[in-house]
Amino acid sequence: TDKDTTTSTSQAVKVAVHVRPLIAAEKLQGCKDCVTITPEQPQLQIGNCSYTFDHVYGSTATPSERIFEECVSPLVDGLFNGYNATVLAYGQTGSGKTYTMGTGYTVNGSTEGIIPQVMELIFNRVENKSKKIIYQIRVSFIEILNEEVHDLLASTSPSATRCDVAVGMRPTTPSKSPIQIREKAAGEITLSGVTEREVSSLDQMAALLEQGSFSRATASTNMNSTSSRSHAILTIVLQQQRKFDVSEGNGIMDTFHDDFLCSKLHLVDLAGSERVKRTGTDGMRFKEGVHINKGLLALGNVISVLGDEKKKKDGGHVPYRDSKLTRLLQDSLGGNSRTVMIACISPADSNAEESLNTLKYANRAR
Ligand code: ADP
Ligand code: MG
Repeated sequence: TDKDTTTSTSQAVKVAVHVRPLIAAEKLQGCKDCVTITPEQPQLQIGNCSYTFDHVYGSTATPSERIFEECVSPLVDGLFNGYNATVLAYGQTGSGKTYTMGTGYTVNGSTEGIIPQVMELIFNRVENKSKKIIYQIRVSFIEILNEEVHDLLASTSPSATRCDVAVGMRPTTPSKSPIQIREKAAGEITLSGVTEREVSSLDQMAALLEQGSFSRATASTNMNSTSSRSHAILTIVLQQQRKFDVSEGNGIMDTFHDDFLCSKLHLVDLAGSERVKRTGTDGMRFKEGVHINKGLLALGNVISVLGDEKKKKDGGHVPYRDSKLTRLLQDSLGGNSRTVMIACISPADSNAEESLNTLKYANRAR
């Protein structure tokens, strides 16, 4: 087929680092910027430690468009050619994951971040492409907390949710039957019991994103900031069906191939990577911490095997089954799919240790 061969020879996982600027709270605490980026190089230093990645984005220029152009838009191109893809934002709480991904999206708010730019590019391409292809775009938005999958699009109606917030309650708990991760014969991973909405315009997609973001933010204010302990995954499925012409009598009739080209893009805002404090937490929160570590740990192991040609050649086992997160992403990490990890760090000296942990984790992917 027309699948190109570059995928197998190039890196399985590309890694970019995004260093956000010092924020007001850090300045107030007297924090100093401890991150040095080598000019014109994808390299950065904290103290004596120096790391090189595929890309490093600093705090001086507004890097949002560059991150999108260099890291994400090639994945959207791949999506239209049938390749699955995953974008992951990794880093400690407060490092800029949600800002970078654009997961905290509101229709009337800022359009910065990766997700709004992905949506725009997808609809631009769909609208400008040949009339010979029928497109269907479907969206789901879930959260993994405590090794359980929650549907962020399942809440009854946005107005009902807002009402619950006003009286300080959790929004209606979604579907009672648990969401199951299933593997089809061809290795395709599907989620049963999850809301998947078909969207035909940018506005519709934006409204869904806002609804999901809102439902995540709401749960977090009422549940000790679950958003820092959960993985949020927005999945865009693109299905393409090609038309061809057949002559029938005098006229030309359009017919459709019945084979579909189906591919998906996962946009993942990972749980905070900071170590769980073992003291002073009640049993429940400790359990949550353990489970989140499980997802991030499994992800680190998976991408490190994927990045190691030697291990792969030796028939190295890729431990996808070790967590819900890696299981869910199984058909979109490795193989022919494309993966970009964006490691987010704070430049503050007070966060230097966690920032170094993040760089070490990201370095395993290379
Ligand atoms: P996380 O999702 O990793 O917990 P956030 O994305 O919520 O972190 O960012 C934490 C704070 O830093 C927010 O107030 C956010 O607006 C700010 N911030 C993050 N990245 C940037 C950036 N690149 N430029 C300016 N402010 C940023
Ligand atoms: Mg966040």
